[in-house]
Amino acid sequence: MYGIEIWSDDNFVIENGLVKVNHLSRPSLLEITREARKSGVSGPLILRFPHLIHKQIDKLYANFNRAIEENRYKGHFSAVFPLKVNQYANVINAMVAHGDRYGYGLEAGSKAELILAMSHTTIGAPITVNGFKDKEMITLGFMAAQMGHNITITIEGLGELEWIVEVSKECNLKLPNIGLRLRLHSTGGGTWAKSGGMDAKFGLTATEILEAVELLEENNLLGQLKMIHFHIGSQMEEISPLKKALREAGNLYAELKKFGADALSAINIGGGLAIEYAQHPAQRICNYSLSEFTNDVVFLIGDIMDAKKVDHPDIYTESGRFVVAQHAVLITPVLELFSHDYQEQHLRLKEVNPPLVEELIELYGNISEKNFIEYMHDALDHLESLFTLFDLGYVDLEDRSNAEILTHLIIKKSLQFSMIAPTPELRKLQQRHQERYLVNSSFFQSIPDYWGLKQKFPVMPLHYLGSNKPVRAASLWDITCDSDGEIGFNPEAPLFLHDVDLDTEEYYLAFFNVGAYQETLGMQHNLFSRPNAATVLIREDGYALTQMEESANLKRVIESVGYDGDSILNELESKLEESSFSSQQEKSDTLRQLKLFMEQNSYLRTTN
Ligand SMILES: *Cc1c(COP(=O)(O)O)cnc(C)c1O
Repeated sequence: MYGIEIWSDDNFVIENGLVKVNHLSRPSLLEITREARKSGVSGPLILRFPHLIHKQIDKLYANFNRAIEENRYKGHFSAVFPLKVNQYANVINAMVAHGDRYGYGLEAGSKAELILAMSHTTIGAPITVNGFKDKEMITLGFMAAQMGHNITITIEGLGELEWIVEVSKECNLKLPNIGLRLRLHSTGGGTWAKSGGMDAKFGLTATEILEAVELLEENNLLGQLKMIHFHIGSQMEEISPLKKALREAGNLYAELKKFGADALSAINIGGGLAIEYAQHPAQRICNYSLSEFTNDVVFLIGDIMDAKKVDHPDIYTESGRFVVAQHAVLITPVLELFSHDYQEQHLRLKEVNPPLVEELIELYGNISEKNFIEYMHDALDHLESLFTLFDLGYVDLEDRSNAEILTHLIIKKSLQFSMIAPTPELRKLQQRHQERYLVNSSFFQSIPDYWGLKQKFPVMPLHYLGSNKPVRAASLWDITCDSDGEIGFNPEAPLFLHDVDLDTEEYYLAFFNVGAYQETLGMQHNLFSRPNAATVLIREDGYALTQMEESANLKRVIESVGYDGDSILNELESKLEESSFSSQQEKSDTLRQLKLFMEQNSYLRTTN
């Protein structure tokens, strides 16, 4: 079942052999994919499900508010979405429309993101600004405040504070709130742990914090210091580093209040809430639940404040991955199975075959659940002998091809018979005889964290679930000319796919939980553009496909690396003019065809 109960969070279910969206009319991903492709889109397709973004926002607020009530916590909960996790308009618009009821805000880490946050956040909902800033970016923060935004600029270094002082003296704009990013000695765990710890890229040390407070006081700005902030890294796999960080940050908060930072009223705990990507029980990533996470945050902060007799601060989070990872599914058509040639239909049997080939035919005809191990051993032996005969010139190329096909078919049958309890020998064979599935997609473009960080994404076919057993040990190849564009078969966490005949049937694979970070991190390696994308609104009585975006065509992709598309066409045209075509007609036909190709995207346009 491809571990669907581990990673899908009940968002998708398997029913009648299909994977379905577990919401209202429960359409299958296969029917949605077919519908989307009716308009002629070829290549990979991102399906967005905004209801899954809404669900995560609801869960986040519900859990924090429950924990606040249960712990009789006095502060409020607020959240912002960090734009770097997914800036695409169709994502942010769906999010803002739903988040409005909670006062859900946005977090910006660059000037471009800040402009988005200023234009898309409802007045009153928070905006936080992190990352390295210049004076211009800080001025933008003042402008946002003047517009009426509840904006907090988080200081990453003392230099930024000096700019705030400068800008406040130079203009008449309203002051933004000021936050301090702490450099905690506690760090997160896992791949992204670098965001925390004493050697982290961001944040102020204890000494700098004291200096910052003094600098603010000297300039009459201490009243603006409202928030302390930390972020111990994305995809926190374990809860204990967060607890340590909370104790450290909580005590820093209380100390700052005692040190005179009277206006301080919020702790921002950053992001890091993890998503389960594992497909196999032994590889589960996340060791805590949302409810444990929220209980710990609320309880620990409350506990520290009570002990130090300080009012409970408001709690802010900046969870990004948690909110959007699940909303997007990448659908990729399979173009080819590499052992396609080893099919029965390719046999070229003769009237009279060499005895070894005859024996292989017999073994293949009679192999059964009872004898398959013995028959498979015989077949492997025969193939070995036949190779020797070929090297000595006693059998011909057709005989050799027949023997290879027959042995392959025998091994395939044996693997099917042994699916439930393969012996170590069969396991090895399975690995050696893995099938390579070529998918019409670029892993560099669509799941860059697989390439860069070896992050796994759950993957499964859209069809034959439950009916037709997946028997092929599978590795996946993308269509880039790069050997890193491969997801190899991993015996520890095997992926088995179906033995399909792509001449007569279609076969799609879906990669799940690709909604966080992948889209803007994706790169145009080999000049493959962003996949096609569509938003799917699920209704009681069906679903609607909206916001179809087509993958960029060759002309646009070529222009994105600095060429002028029209000059390229002119260049091609003049080369055609000088070429050796026999007629003008042929030249103009070819040119017309070239222009047509330039209007299409880079993905392969076979039937899939
Ligand atoms: C990246 C980032 C986040 C989001 O982290 P997730 O793990 O996606 O929740 C939040 N805050 C800051 C400061 C970040 O840099």
